[in-house]
Amino acid sequence: MDCPNREKNLAKCNCTYEPCPRKGICCECIAYHRSRGELPACFFTAEEERTYDRSIKYFVSRRK
Ligand code: SF4
Repeated sequence: MDCPNREKNLAKCNCTYEPCPRKGICCECIAYHRSRGELPACFFTAEEERTYDRSIKYFVSRRK
């Protein structure tokens, strides 16, 4: 089943990684990154997001 919120979610999504099949499907996006000890793109600024480093370590390092 397609996500009924996908288009609405995409309007707010800041992720620039275009080939990702999870874009706009936030539950899959969060589960994927959580399983890797990461955070989704929307936790990061535009500059940070473009590094594609989604690690919690990177997130914290940018907020000290
Ligand atoms: S944050 Fe990760 S899972 Fe989510 S849309 Fe971007 S690349 Fe895909």
